[in-house]
Amino acid sequence: MSTEDTDRQVAAQLIDLSKPLLEKALQKDFSVKGMSPWSVSRYKCLNKCPFQFYLRYVLSLLHAMDTAEEDYSQEMTEDSVRTFVGSLGHELLDDMLINPGKTFHDSLAEKDLSHIPEKFRGMVTDLFVPCTEFVQRIESFKQKYPVKKLYVEQHFAVDDQWRPIAYDHPRAYMRAKLDLTMVMDNEDVVTVDHKLGGDPSWGLRNYKTQLDTYGLFQVCYRKDTKHVTSGVHFIQAMDVLLDRPIDRDTFFRVTRNNTDAMIYNAVDAVKEDGVFKAVKSTTCEYCEVRDLCVKYRKPRDKTSTAGLLQPILEDSRKFLEARKNA
Ligand code: SF4
Repeated sequence: MSTEDTDRQVAAQLIDLSKPLLEKALQKDFSVKGMSPWSVSRYKCLNKCPFQFYLRYVLSLLHAMDTAEEDYSQEMTEDSVRTFVGSLGHELLDDMLINPGKTFHDSLAEKDLSHIPEKFRGMVTDLFVPCTEFVQRIESFKQKYPVKKLYVEQHFAVDDQWRPIAYDHPRAYMRAKLDLTMVMDNEDVVTVDHKLGGDPSWGLRNYKTQLDTYGLFQVCYRKDTKHVTSGVHFIQAMDVLLDRPIDRDTFFRVTRNNTDAMIYNAVDAVKEDGVFKAVKSTTCEYCEVRDLCVKYRKPRDKTSTAGLLQPILEDSRKFLEARKNA
């Protein structure tokens, strides 16, 4: 069977699956409140490609897609291995950072890698140098600066007034998982997000929204924190970039308003369009449906913006129409 035949079969399965999911989704409220809890990735998704948001958060179709793809391939793909290696890198770093003296190999020995095909094992062992180097870097930082407390993988949530709230609370408006936080003696905070890939020579521009929002979470949770410095650890590139420190007042006066406005504007834009548009951008490169969507998009043809998934995109009009009349 050709790749195109396989794509068409998977697309047909997804279109079938989307019908009952749309019926279910008609109960959902497409509003800022109805689509809560937000996260940086959720609102970036809506902002960059509403159709991807529709598949992921309105229909919850992407899980169904995984199942459909497994019918054709029992093997892990390079994409799925990469996702796994990204999570593994985070876990190993967390483990080594909170257990000083624990080596990469000690930590790796506790992980189950049996499902990783031999040909991809190198992606795991390649983590050794970057993880070890980063932990040494943090140890040097701690010796040089007065770090009072180090936290890994903290879960934060706020209500719509940006007050801390339980992570799973039904009124959670926005949530975040922060990879690494160091609280200094004076309560100022340095917070770092690990990224497996990425190119530090591009700077932090693409991460600014995320970093600012994470800083805002920090000041919401820590009343004595006056400044937050946020940054990105590029694991494979073995580099750390830190933004300039931002003060508490700026977070509440500027970042909070910007974040709220971005979410409201993104939701309003879709309502105005009356459809969840498929927007081609660099996001497509990492999108789970790229081989069914953007790959089959024809230049200047408005009826193929979502490629083989165009019927699902057209159905999204029904969802928005139903919500308008609800
Ligand atoms: S492939 Fe691109 S255009 Fe299609 S849903 Fe994904 S991000 Fe959107």
